[in-house]
Amino acid sequence: MRLAYLYSIVAKSQNPIKTPFPRHVSLAVSALPIMADSEESLRRTLAEKQAALDAQAEAVRALKARPASASAEIDAAVESLKAFKVEAAAAARRLQAAVSRNGDGSTAGSREAFRQAVVNTLERRLFYIPSFKIYRGVAGLYDYGPPGCAVKSNVLAFWRQHFVLEENMLEVDCPCVTPEIVLKASGHVDKFTDLMVKDEKTGTCYRADHLLKDYCKAKLEKDLTLSAEKAAELKHILAVLDDLSADETSIGPSGLSPGYMRPETAQGIFVNFKDLYYYNGNRLPFAAAQIGQAFRNEISPRQGLLRVREFTLAEIEHFVDPEDKTHPKFVDVSNLEFLMFPRKEQMAGESAKPMILGEAVTKGIVNNETLGYFIGRVYLFLACLGIDKEIECSYGWIECVGIADRSAYDLRAHSEKSGVALVAHEKFSESREVEKLVIVPSKKELGLAFKGNQKLVVEALEAMSEKEALKMRASLESKGEVDFHVCTLGKAVVITKNMVSISIEKKKEHQRVFTPSVIEPSFGIGRIIYCLFEHSFYIRPSKSEDEQLNVFRFPPLVAPIKCTVFPLIKTQKFDDVAKIIARSLTAAGISHIIDITGTSIGKRYARTDEIGVPFAITVDSTSSVTIRERDSKEQIRVSIDEVAKVVKEVTDGQSTWADILWRYPAHAASLADEE
Ligand code: AMP
Repeated sequence: MRLAYLYSIVAKSQNPIKTPFPRHVSLAVSALPIMADSEESLRRTLAEKQAALDAQAEAVRALKARPASASAEIDAAVESLKAFKVEAAAAARRLQAAVSRNGDGSTAGSREAFRQAVVNTLERRLFYIPSFKIYRGVAGLYDYGPPGCAVKSNVLAFWRQHFVLEENMLEVDCPCVTPEIVLKASGHVDKFTDLMVKDEKTGTCYRADHLLKDYCKAKLEKDLTLSAEKAAELKHILAVLDDLSADETSIGPSGLSPGYMRPETAQGIFVNFKDLYYYNGNRLPFAAAQIGQAFRNEISPRQGLLRVREFTLAEIEHFVDPEDKTHPKFVDVSNLEFLMFPRKEQMAGESAKPMILGEAVTKGIVNNETLGYFIGRVYLFLACLGIDKEIECSYGWIECVGIADRSAYDLRAHSEKSGVALVAHEKFSESREVEKLVIVPSKKELGLAFKGNQKLVVEALEAMSEKEALKMRASLESKGEVDFHVCTLGKAVVITKNMVSISIEKKKEHQRVFTPSVIEPSFGIGRIIYCLFEHSFYIRPSKSEDEQLNVFRFPPLVAPIKCTVFPLIKTQKFDDVAKIIARSLTAAGISHIIDITGTSIGKRYARTDEIGVPFAITVDSTSSVTIRERDSKEQIRVSIDEVAKVVKEVTDGQSTWADILWRYPAHAASLADEE
């Protein structure tokens, strides 16, 4: 069974959802099931049928209560009542079918069954293991077992190749333990909180937004008496859930993480900006990268590997001039087409739509080329791993890679807190004469006039834009005083001519000093791997059709083991050949295992298919062997000297299996080897 999973990079552009950073663009974020028009009309139809049924039931009751009613009249009314009941029941069934169907036509039940099959296989074959299992485990903590570890390390190796190597990024490795002052400056201590609610009877804690989401979804799916208006309201809550503040939810106290294990790797890069900029020859743009553990004290972790308390993050911080966010390589990705979900469509409860990346940047749906470039590169990265074009899993939409324009927020915050200027310089080839607005508040006069409020008035005067300041100067010159609104005081004050001097001065400048903007693609490696597991999994019947065989169709790039070696029968000469082949595979850098168990070859194939090994070498002679490809089950015959070279070619991606089939004779599976 293969469900048509959607798995897409979904753009929530110009949308400061979930973060305090200005101009944040979050991608691949959760989208919510959208109630189709037909569902709304089905709700209305059901409400009408139910009202007609109630009215008819009332009419029957009234007829029966009236002594003068003829029995024929009562019988006719009861017959109509039955017909109304049948119609209402049919409308309820139609609505139930519509609400329990997902966007791709699958039902919640079939998704659940598919997930169960994947998770059972993953746990049985030790891709991952609940941590500390013999002590009943700890929610939100998982170990990767041998094949899981191998997949993870392949994904990370490819990440380094696709991003760090390709873009000459500066990789760093910073500690997980982070001093409070860093996370205070970044805003994590004060702003990143999940609201928690506690069941007073059982003591169980829940994340408020998850509880609300579950409630709305369950109500929409199960309560068929819900009016179309109420359903639309719940749907709206689901669409804006991430945006709700504590006041709007009015639920419970905030749950601050008490620890200072880092919640992201990014801060380690920001605090090193000065040195990295110097290392890069004081030039922009450049990117730094880091792979490492991140910690989130999730209130109620669920969804397996998708929401955990400790996970591997791979982050890129691309530092760029805020006045020039063009990217020289944007053309390489501008023709890619994705499903995008712009802010406008999200807020209006509409669906995601396919869009060409270049067009999205031109229209401003994606803010700038650099952001667009990384969206494209991330898409290509995920596609090479074997992830479907659209990125949804059986749990629905989940953020796997967040791509944000964090602007200058972090560097400014750390400059202020640390006193170290985290800035870049643009040296002018010739000095430039620039006009500068100079505002000099008279602290003495302002102190006399405003006493304790003096500081706030000074700050407000200094923060004026050039336009405001020139307007004030004109008013002061013509009238001698002006009303000035001070936001932080919440009122206007009267400013007189002697309280402030405003002038435009000419200055020579040799360089421009500015705080760089940061474009940040942030990869949740565990989430990517879990989606890869689901997208690669399929079940095929055994030859005798009495058994179901699980297969992970991992591309060779990420497969935990590239090839298995099976001596067909237990004999010394075949074992010796297997050892020679193993040595040549090791020399070629190809991960492999030898399976010498005495079980049938079919059973051994099934066992390696289940952990996604793409190629199997069967030793059935001392001069040549067969190589079998996992998904097609096609086999070729190759001499022992050549086998490692062929497997290397096809696992390194220099040739496809189809290329290999052209060059080597297909081997009719005369060994009756498939189960
Ligand atoms: P954030 O900084 O919240 O945008 O998270 C960055 C990335 O980390 C996300 O895109 C997710 O892929 C991943 N992530 C965040 N929280 C978790 C979690 N609790 N478990 C696993 N991955 C997570």
